[in-house]
Amino acid sequence: MPEGRFDLPEIDAFTRRYWDAAAEGRLLIRRCRGCGVAHHYPREFCPHCWSDAVDWEEASGRATLYTWSVVHRNDLPPFADRVPYTAAVVTLAEGPRMMTEIVDCAASDLRVGMELRVAFRAGADGGARLIPVFRVAGTGVE
Ligand SMILES: [Zn+2]
Repeated sequence: MPEGRFDLPEIDAFTRRYWDAAAEGRLLIRRCRGCGVAHHYPREFCPHCWSDAVDWEEASGRATLYTWSVVHRNDLPPFADRVPYTAAVVTLAEGPRMMTEIVDCAASDLRVGMELRVAFRAGADGGARLIPVFRVAGTGVE
């Protein structure tokens, strides 16, 4: 992680494929060949049955809003410059829940269960899009 930033991923050999896909605007999840259940965040073992027969799969990018909280204070750089923002947990169409951020929507307009679509935030210095966030379906580019 670059010095003094807390918004960027630490990419290792296992997660590199996930972040490379994100840079191409694709959200990857993991699905178990043993029990068939998908999970997120990516793990090398299935968190449901502990099988290591787990494959990468491209998610549809569709999700619904499960819960959220508007963050008004975060002293870790660079979040202090972003407040307020909406931290959220969404339910991916494939099943897993994912911690993320809702963008381009006033918190007062958010509703449990509303349809969302994935988008990707630029990384450091305006570089590759890296960080998956979600916006309300039907807004922005899909
Ligand atoms: Zn499993």
